[in-house]
Amino acid sequence: MTAGIYASRGNLKTLLLEKVAPGGLVAITDKVENYPGFPEGVNGYELVSRMEAQAKRFGLEIISAEVKVISQEGGWFLIRADGKEYQSQAVIIATGSIARRIGVNNEDKFQGRGVSYCATCDAPFFKNKEIVVVGGGDTAVEEALFLTNFVRKIYLVHRRDKLRATPILQSRILNHPKIQFYWDSVVAEIIGSERPKGVKIKNIRSGEITELAIDGIFIFIGFIPNTGFLKGFIELDQDGYIVIDSEMRTSRQGVYACGDVVKKNMRQIINACGEGATAAFNAQHYVEEMRDKTYK
Ligand code: NAP
Repeated sequence: MTAGIYASRGNLKTLLLEKVAPGGLVAITDKVENYPGFPEGVNGYELVSRMEAQAKRFGLEIISAEVKVISQEGGWFLIRADGKEYQSQAVIIATGSIARRIGVNNEDKFQGRGVSYCATCDAPFFKNKEIVVVGGGDTAVEEALFLTNFVRKIYLVHRRDKLRATPILQSRILNHPKIQFYWDSVVAEIIGSERPKGVKIKNIRSGEITELAIDGIFIFIGFIPNTGFLKGFIELDQDGYIVIDSEMRTSRQGVYACGDVVKKNMRQIINACGEGATAAFNAQHYVEEMRDKTYK
């Protein structure tokens, strides 16, 4: 969205191709507390809707289509999306990431029927129920805290004996009356025929298995970058993240990347926005340089 704002405001003819709806993970975040300018926090969907309106005011065109292939012919990039082909002189990739699976039986089968990767989307289905939350990072803690507004009890299962989440989030969750922690533990099995009825939790130090009766499982164990369509086109690291330099340049001239899809340590809205602005700025310079060369 920020790349779209900067590129279109810079008078570049800018097209944003979006698989589902603008906003990605932010759009399904209940409350964003650390984005500057919103002292009381802001709903994620509202935040991206404002960004979208801002970008459209400068002329950004948005088309709903999934990009399958990007190739290059001479000075032009060819982008194939949902059976159509688009041409551009520069490309900015901001495809984000998707939730990682734990990889146990019934996980896929029960997705959307008791197994969830989005508290904002599914919490209201679990009013007064008992659930498991898996993970120990910022997302797991924030989502678990949000879920306490709905559920009766949460069993939080984390594979280590310490949370990865930032201290402020840890202090909010560690003594929460609705949350019981299972440290050094993983979900070994999801039990049920139509929906989850229980889980087997395995302590990875002792090997002990505990069976719990639950109504749902929320999984927040990190993300996998959406870069499958880029293999062989630009350099990716061993986890699939796009390798960039400090100017958001990828390994291919004219292709830039920003946000959760790039290799970095901090994944926040604020730095995704900064990177989007940098990517658009450099893409603009690149396009102008190419144009000057063509007309010389
Ligand atoms: P994350 O920081 O990568 O944490 C993933 C968690 O899942 C870790 O606790 C990890 O355990 C655990 N895990 C990973 N693979 C697992 C597996 N196969 N089985 C069981 N557990 C597994 O991911 P995240 O919490 O989604 O956060 C992603 C990024 O977004 C981070 O940079 C985070 O700071 C940021 N974020 C920020 C905010 C905020 O500032 N408000 C909110 C949400 C997310 P280990 O700890 O043992 O590795």
